[in-house]
Amino acid sequence: MCSPLTKQQQSKFEEMLSQQAASLCREAREIYSSSHAMVANGDTDLPNSVEGWIEILNQYSDNESFQTRRQLERIAAAQEQIELGLYGICSDCESPISLERLLQDPSQQRCGVCEARYKQLSASSKRVWL
Ligand SMILES: [Zn+2]
Repeated sequence: MCSPLTKQQQSKFEEMLSQQAASLCREAREIYSSSHAMVANGDTDLPNSVEGWIEILNQYSDNESFQTRRQLERIAAAQEQIELGLYGICSDCESPISLERLLQDPSQQRCGVCEARYKQLSASSKRVWL
């Protein structure tokens, strides 16, 4: 099984993902600095990787931090899939995810059928899915 996308398409999505990651890291930084006043004065200990921010957001339990962390995790997973050559494949049924879905959300992990089923399954929990 390998990615159904061309190299060109993959690098386009790779770019979209890193842009999203950058803006989510900025959000994470805001969440972090609103609870750590000293960060405003240029704290050099701030992470510069998606993984580093995921770890920091893990310490917060509010909904905004949770959502931001979830999205960062999805992006990290998608970036890893690109590296492995598995990007664009549904994580549940392994069929190709449509280009339209990936354009809407490049960190998409599931095809339309599996996503609908997944949403139904998680509807009973109190999580909010974007
Ligand atoms: Zn699927």
